[in-house]
Amino acid sequence: MREGYIEVLERVTSAIEPSKDDLIYLLETKDTKEYTILSQAACDIRDIYCGKRMAIRGLVEFSSFCKNTCKYCGLNRYNKTASRYRLNPDEIIKLADHVYTAGFHTIVLQSGEDGYPAQEIAKIITSIKVKFNIAITLSVGERSFEDYQLWKEAGADRYLLRIETKDRLLYKSLHQGRNVETRLQALKDLQSLGYQTGSGIMIGSPGQTIEHIANDILFLTKEAFDMIGIGPFIPHEKTPFARYPKGPVQLTLNTLALLRICTKNTWIPATTALGSLERDYRLDALMAGANVVMPNFSPESIKKKYEIYPNKSCVKEKEESVHMLCKNLASKAGLEIDYARCDSLKVT
Ligand code: SAH
Repeated sequence: MREGYIEVLERVTSAIEPSKDDLIYLLETKDTKEYTILSQAACDIRDIYCGKRMAIRGLVEFSSFCKNTCKYCGLNRYNKTASRYRLNPDEIIKLADHVYTAGFHTIVLQSGEDGYPAQEIAKIITSIKVKFNIAITLSVGERSFEDYQLWKEAGADRYLLRIETKDRLLYKSLHQGRNVETRLQALKDLQSLGYQTGSGIMIGSPGQTIEHIANDILFLTKEAFDMIGIGPFIPHEKTPFARYPKGPVQLTLNTLALLRICTKNTWIPATTALGSLERDYRLDALMAGANVVMPNFSPESIKKKYEIYPNKSCVKEKEESVHMLCKNLASKAGLEIDYARCDSLKVT
């Protein structure tokens, strides 16, 4: 363990705005003793600020069409071999029924940027809200302010839009023809409309440095997002980044622990990406301060087709085993499953 480690950790824990150098120092943790102290500190903060509980969200991936060209994502429009599908409103509402019947009180509707008509999405939201007592989280990428507004009025509660990185140049090198300012504006719009807003980053994307990650931790902390998703970059064969290495697991877990320490009362999932490596690291994520698991409720026939990266852990998980998965993870992590909606923990 490095000399002064505990001092730096204490400084970061009590700071309103930690220094970038301190964050970099802690992010570089590779020593098991240091990591034990870091992850324990993160879990202590989670337990105090969020309770010793794990929220569960049912994920439905309703369309794999995408007009974007994100260089890391298997659904980018240049991937002509990707299987494209789009569920119709009745199919989506039926899946909301599954999620609700399974005892979940949040459904996350995710898709590529497929231009699904805004009015149709609004109707789906209204139908789900009329039928079931369930929170709706949207994760459909960048749309117009008017669309966000329409969906909020229709009853959507939350929105996930990862910044991926706040660095202008790195953002450009990951997303051909797009810029981070538009993404930032979208996040501002969502927050101003009253959405419980989630963001996050990928760890180990090509070109990313530790300094980028430290800056992103500062950004995610300052913006006080209600949810923060962190996962390792996983190369997909049919993308320009096919030959780059996976994001390092240890760095992903260190980032997650630090985000917990800095942001305190945030919903942080043990992401599917962390479950989709050489082994399942979702328990490790919960033991580094995460407090959400998002099992996949997409029909078996389409799970594999929503291939943002290969070997998604959920493809092996059948709907009947969702409860076992959650129970196992929660009990091993020493957490209680919270079956309620689990709304934002920030003061509103
Ligand atoms: N179209 C939506 C949803 C994207 S998928 C949107 O733009 O917000 C959700 C997240 O998966 C992305 O934000 C990205 O962070 C992550 N992701 C995509 N491809 C990935 C890959 N190859 N490896 C790891 N994570 C990836």
